[in-house]
Amino acid sequence: MSKTLILVEATADSLRKTTLPGITFGAQVAAANGGGFDLALIGTGVTKAAASAARYGAAKVYVVDHAAFEHALAESYATAIAEIVKRSGATLVAGASSSTTKDVFPRVAARLGAAMASEVTGVVDEKTFKRPMWAGNVTATVELTTPVKVCSVRATEFDAPAVVGATSPIESVDVLVDLGALRTKFVGLKEIKSERPELASADRIVSGGRGVKGPDGFRLVEQLADTLRAGVGASRAVCDAGWAGNDLQIGQTGKVVAPNLYIAVGISGAIQHLAGMKGSKVIVAINKDAEAPIFQVADYGLVADLFEAVPQLVAAIKQL
Ligand code: FAD
Repeated sequence: MSKTLILVEATADSLRKTTLPGITFGAQVAAANGGGFDLALIGTGVTKAAASAARYGAAKVYVVDHAAFEHALAESYATAIAEIVKRSGATLVAGASSSTTKDVFPRVAARLGAAMASEVTGVVDEKTFKRPMWAGNVTATVELTTPVKVCSVRATEFDAPAVVGATSPIESVDVLVDLGALRTKFVGLKEIKSERPELASADRIVSGGRGVKGPDGFRLVEQLADTLRAGVGASRAVCDAGWAGNDLQIGQTGKVVAPNLYIAVGISGAIQHLAGMKGSKVIVAINKDAEAPIFQVADYGLVADLFEAVPQLVAAIKQL
C-alpha cells in the first residue's frame, strides 16, 4: 500500500485554486491502491491556509512555514519536500503542473532517485499513469518503476476536490535552509496584474491569432473578452510578434486551459495550439478560411472576416 504526498501551492492566507485538482489526483491514487494521501504546504505565512487544506480528507497536512520559503526556489523547495517525504513515508510525490512544480519537481525527482511523469492526465494504478505525448496527439500509458515516484498533474483533467466532513491533523515541519549557500537566488518577480480572469481558472476565454493582423486587431479580441467577462489568450504567432504578452500564449509551449467556452478568433488551429485548448467544453472558431483545421475541433464555427464579425458580436452581446 503506497502513500501519496500532494504539494498544494498557497499564498499567505489562501490555497491557490488552480493547484487544488492535484488533491483530486491524490484521492484517485489512494482509491486505486487502498492507501491514503498527505498534503504539503510550503511558503511564508502559509500556516493560515493549512486549515483550508485540512478539509479535503488528507491523512495529514504538513506545513513548512518560514521566511526562507517566501519564493519557490527549486533547491530550497526540494529540500523541504524531501524532508516531508521522510516523515510521511510517501512513495509518490505529486502536484498540479504549474510554473513552480515545473521548476521544483525535476529536482525533487533527482534528489529522491525517483522516476517522474509530467502532465499526467489519468490514473491507472499507483505506479501507472496516462500522459499526453507529441503535442497531445498520443496518450501514453507509462509505468514508473522506482520505489519513490514523482508526477506533475494536468489540472484541467482533474476536478476540484470535494470537501469532506473530517478535518486532517496539521503538522509543522522545521526545515533549515541557508539561502546564502544555495546556487540560485531569487532576484525579482515581474508580476503582470490584470483585471481580467486568470487563464488557468477562467470560465471563458477569447483568444486571438495572426488573423488579427496586429495590435489594433488584437484590441477586438480584448473587447469581445471584456464583453463576455472572459480571459484573453493568444496564439504563439501573436505573442512572438509582440502583439500580446507572452503570458497569454496558449498551447504546447504556453498555457493549457480548459474553460467552459473558448472562442478562437483568427487562429488556424495548429496542433501545438490545440494541445493547449482542445479540452475546452465548448469551442467556437471565427476564421475566414472554411478549411482552417480549427473547425475540426470547433463545436460552433463562423466562416467570416473577424474585423466584421467580432464588432457585430460585441454589439449583439451588449444588447442582451
Ligand atoms: P496562422 O497559422 O497564421 O493562422 C492565422 C489564421 O487567421 C488563418 O487560419 C487565417 O485563415 C485566419 N485569418 C486571417 N485573416 C483573417 C480575418 N480577417 N478574419 C478571420 N480569420 C482570418 N502555437 C501556439 O499557438 N501555441 C503554442 O504553444 C505553440 N507551441 C509551439 C511549439 C513548437 C515546438 C512549434 C514548432 C510551434 C509552436 N506553435 C505554437 C506554433 C504553431 O505551429 C503555429 O505556427 C501557430 O499556432 C499559428 O498561430 P495562428 O493560428 O495565430 O497563425
